[in-house]
Amino acid sequence: MTAASEWEILTEQLPAWLEESRLQSHKGHPATYIPELAHAPADALGITIMSTEGQSLTLGDCGLSFTMQSISKVFTLILALMDHGEEGVFRKVGMEPTGDDFNSMLKLELVEPGIPFNPLINAGAIAISSLIRGTSPAEKSERILAFFRELADAPSLSWNEAVYRSESATAHRNRSLAYFLKDNRVLEEQDDVEEVLDVYFKHCSIEITCRQLARMALVLALNGKDPRSGRELIPRRYVQIAKTFMVSCGMYNASGEFAIRAGLPAKSGVAGGILALVPGRYGIGVVGPALNDKGNSVAGVHLLEKLSGEFDWSLF
Ligand code: GLN
Repeated sequence: MTAASEWEILTEQLPAWLEESRLQSHKGHPATYIPELAHAPADALGITIMSTEGQSLTLGDCGLSFTMQSISKVFTLILALMDHGEEGVFRKVGMEPTGDDFNSMLKLELVEPGIPFNPLINAGAIAISSLIRGTSPAEKSERILAFFRELADAPSLSWNEAVYRSESATAHRNRSLAYFLKDNRVLEEQDDVEEVLDVYFKHCSIEITCRQLARMALVLALNGKDPRSGRELIPRRYVQIAKTFMVSCGMYNASGEFAIRAGLPAKSGVAGGILALVPGRYGIGVVGPALNDKGNSVAGVHLLEKLSGEFDWSLF
């Protein structure tokens, strides 16, 4: 199939596929452990697909803005790699999936050395937050924001204050993970636990739309190049590392299943967002707040699997 006829079929069929996937929403629920996320409309579903050739398709509830949550971890990982290189980052986090829930602390004590298995689980992302350069937590958060704004082509991108506060006030488990990391010396002498957590909560609560998510995905689909100018925003090697983690760990402990069914690098967040890409071809942003028991958007996963199946997008 040529790219032009694929885009034509996509444009024609996507509205029906979206409605079909929306019907799946009743099988899940919006996250409630961060109280502020519980208000999200459970049957919302929206998607933006941007092609590397400059076409763009936006459908469904794309007016809905939502917080990035775990999706942000892909980009803080990249920023930490840009700040410290591979050696600096992989002293603090491993490269392996856990098979456990995203907020599990089980393996931190079970396996030596006590570094988080990968940068996309909460423990790993908290360790990554400690690596972002800056003289204060505020400066670190501002650097993250500036980086995200450039990738999303959204100068006004910011964090949602209510979600940030809500998470910070209730994050007992993340706090215990962070103190555990401090005890294991993954967080070092100079790393104040509350300050590291503040950076983490703020990047998780950056508010975004499907369109902006798709733009960030498009940069990854272009191996780190700015879609407009062609300028390098991210070194290719770091995009490669990020994409590999997305395949092995991006959908939490449903990553293997998603790799078999869709075969695309993707990262989900507990606000219902999913960022996915077809390398060299498309950047995709999806939102559907109802989550399955693994913490992934039920309708969003359904829609991405449908698209990948129809167009044979699997990398494998
Ligand atoms: N901020 C969320 C948390 O730390 C992110 C988790 C997620 O999206 N899976 O629990």
